[in-house]
Amino acid sequence: MIFLSTLIKIGASLVVLSGLTICYTYYYPNNNSEILEGSLSTYQREQVVSRDSEIPVESTLNHERSILKKHTAGNWSPMRTQVDYSNLEPFVKKNQFAFIKENLITPALAFLQTALKVYPRISNTFVSQKCGGYSIQNLLKTGQIFDLGILMAASNDPQGNWWLRGVSCELDRVTNRPILGTLQINLAIFNQVNVDKNNNEEWEYWLQQTLHEMIHLIGFNSVLYPYYVNANDNKVLGLDNVIRTFKNRQYIILPPVLDRVKRHFSCNSAVGALLEENGGQDIAGFHWERVTFGNEIMTGDPFPDQVISEFTLALLEGTGWYLPNYTYAQNFGWGLDDGCTLTTGACSVVYEEFCKVKDQSGCSNNFNSLSGCYTGDQLSQGCSYWREQSDCRFKSDYNEKLAKGTGGSIGMNSQCFITSLAQDVFANARSSCYSSQCVNGKVILDVNGTSVICSSSGQVTSVKLGQKNGTITCPDITKFCAQFRSCPNNCSNRGVCISNNTCKCWSGYLGNDCSQRQPSA
Ligand SMILES: [Zn+2]
Repeated sequence: MIFLSTLIKIGASLVVLSGLTICYTYYYPNNNSEILEGSLSTYQREQVVSRDSEIPVESTLNHERSILKKHTAGNWSPMRTQVDYSNLEPFVKKNQFAFIKENLITPALAFLQTALKVYPRISNTFVSQKCGGYSIQNLLKTGQIFDLGILMAASNDPQGNWWLRGVSCELDRVTNRPILGTLQINLAIFNQVNVDKNNNEEWEYWLQQTLHEMIHLIGFNSVLYPYYVNANDNKVLGLDNVIRTFKNRQYIILPPVLDRVKRHFSCNSAVGALLEENGGQDIAGFHWERVTFGNEIMTGDPFPDQVISEFTLALLEGTGWYLPNYTYAQNFGWGLDDGCTLTTGACSVVYEEFCKVKDQSGCSNNFNSLSGCYTGDQLSQGCSYWREQSDCRFKSDYNEKLAKGTGGSIGMNSQCFITSLAQDVFANARSSCYSSQCVNGKVILDVNGTSVICSSSGQVTSVKLGQKNGTITCPDITKFCAQFRSCPNNCSNRGVCISNNTCKCWSGYLGNDCSQRQPSA
């Protein structure tokens, strides 16, 4: 009883302002059958909770900036964070709390702290007393200066199909950087998650959503575009230097972003990085366009197996608030060298990212997953694309049965291949999982203990499995090898797998698979 009334009170004290955009991270059941049946249509789009209105006015900024120069002389330093769990802990079960703290918040923050540097704050002075309705006093208790403070909180919204939402509350008076935020967990949804199950696939999914929301909180948010600065002098860039509208679409034109769009898509005339236009107020304008950026972590709806690419790090660099370490960008193959058309959000089946036959089975664009040709995405302008049904890295009834019947295997080195052998297991299946590697421009896969070599893209290779004859169709070798992940244990979800197949562990984690905790100094 106390529990509920507290939550209702909390809900009522949140300020709701129109036109301000904080994304909800939606709950997306990781259930294979539902993906193809269009379960996304059940999502509710709601008006968004926003920050308190205590952002300092522009006129106070210049003076404060001179203080910054004096005190820090522009020294980028690792971001220091502080989290207050006191508005969350009493409302969740012990094992839920441990999961949220140890498996989600700590590693997500560890990533940001490792990958980003900031101009350090010189004091813990805040204008706000509250953030998202919650007092910030507990954040200040330790007396340690921090660069980002996060209040964790609980909510209970059985009507809302979201599980996590964020609010940015205050900008640093010196640099304009967001320094306070609240992350709210919707218990009505989160209570359905089995947090005891040691399921790395689910954990990866929740962790990616947590990071997504944190990245909004620290900068990727249309509310914050007007506050982006030039890192050299902390002067506001102005919206015209952040976004450009071209043929009715909005593009991020921050130099670090534009630069990478040109290189990645091989398009010298690119306008910028296209922003999502669909999805309403809580998505449009502050996510990457789904068609152009596919499984990038900052696209609108949850998408299986998302990656933090250099584009999101470049946006954070472009804010003027962060200095990213780009070695922490994950391999991102969507749209690689596809040319200018894709940068404008037009999809075409000439690109491998998209598919023609509804519900046909195939492989995800990053080759990690058995996939179906999916058409129900509100963000994809009617384009169909390969969407994950079963990740070859993680065992499921479906992929185990398929692998067994096609001479394949499930595991961290397994990838999806098109094979005629699959139809003997399930009538409509066209793909299966095989352990594979990239060696000298060739893809070598293991079919029931025999090496099969793909030396050219699209090559159809005969394979024999017992008495059965079949074929395997080779992937686009350049793309396949560009995003090949074969890091040990997928870096235990505590690091990122970089191009030479080594784990770069997040701060606080050690070992070749990032599984060890760094002893505290
Ligand atoms: Zn979002």
